[in-house]
Amino acid sequence: MAKRDYYEVLGVPKTSSKDEIKKAYRQLAIKYHPDRNPGNKAAEEKFKEATEAYEVLADDKKRQAYDQFGFAGVEGMAGGAHDFSSVFRDFEDIFGDFSGFFDSFFGGGGTRTKRRSTRGRRGADLRYDIKIPFRDAVFGTKVDISFVRNEACLSCNGSGADKGSRKKLCPDCGGSGQVRRSSGFFSIASTCPTCNGEGEIIEKPCIECSGRGLIKKNKKIKVTIPSGIENGRRIHIPEQGDGGLNGGPPGDLYVFVHVLPHKYFERDGNDVYCMIPVSITQAALGADIYVTTLDDKKVKLKIPAGTQNGKVLRLRNEGIPSLQYSDRKGDMYITIRVVIPKKLSHREQNLLKELSQITGEDESPEPVPLSELK
Ligand SMILES: [Zn+2]
Ligand SMILES: [Zn+2]
Repeated sequence: MAKRDYYEVLGVPKTSSKDEIKKAYRQLAIKYHPDRNPGNKAAEEKFKEATEAYEVLADDKKRQAYDQFGFAGVEGMAGGAHDFSSVFRDFEDIFGDFSGFFDSFFGGGGTRTKRRSTRGRRGADLRYDIKIPFRDAVFGTKVDISFVRNEACLSCNGSGADKGSRKKLCPDCGGSGQVRRSSGFFSIASTCPTCNGEGEIIEKPCIECSGRGLIKKNKKIKVTIPSGIENGRRIHIPEQGDGGLNGGPPGDLYVFVHVLPHKYFERDGNDVYCMIPVSITQAALGADIYVTTLDDKKVKLKIPAGTQNGKVLRLRNEGIPSLQYSDRKGDMYITIRVVIPKKLSHREQNLLKELSQITGEDESPEPVPLSELK
């Protein structure tokens, strides 16, 4: 089939200006665009023909060669209707917001046709730090937290574009989200500053969110702290993070739990440790004492006669509930500290002197291993 004259294809005179050529092509391209003519082979051919004509006539050099030598003048220059590189630069002002153009016609084959922002983007995960008292970590609690998060703007559904206005292809990167700069032998790709890598820019930004697609909102939620939680653990709360863009899912919220130290109790795993002072007579004679446990009970603890300083006694199941097994609990370990009186009354002094005489003091005691302290 003989090729039609390019001017004829576009329906413009040989003397027409660049703008007139562009205008003519735009009309044809929209009319014969495959999107509007699904399955219509003739329309597709017309579209390709117009594109090829435009590609030559929009380029000064090619147009000059064509005017002088006809098709022979541009053979090998145009590369047929498959080389759209020179046309691409003009696509943006030719089509403006003619969305769907690239994707449908080029089938996503070229890198320039990728438009990432049309997909929903997941919102960011957020971190919230809370401090809770030791006992709350042991028994669990519910805490109200309040924080600021970005929520998808209801007015524009997170797109950032004003109602009725569309996003249009970024003119600086042609939709790829990346720009290449040549520096010597190297070509460096970097995120397009015009569209921030989105590939699209907003024609008219949403008034509510100033085009961000998100709005800062104060959010209050109740966080359930499970009993037995350890210091530094995080609680994962799905979908309470920042809202997504373009209908993307929200991010998650992570609540980091910091357990405040207790005045008496220290934790190791699910066991809890404390120290209890007893008198020398309690240690020597033995005694029943009452120990306050984590849940504020008074539990009887038997101090055996002859208990040494530093002796560790155990109260079973008075530790911290296991996070994994609800029926398990740790133990409480009590270090006995035998308190030597610092001030003695006259009578106390006499009683102790009498005791000393009865037992008979060793004037040259042998050393004992330090490990015996335990
Ligand atoms: Zn908005
Ligand atoms: Zn861009």
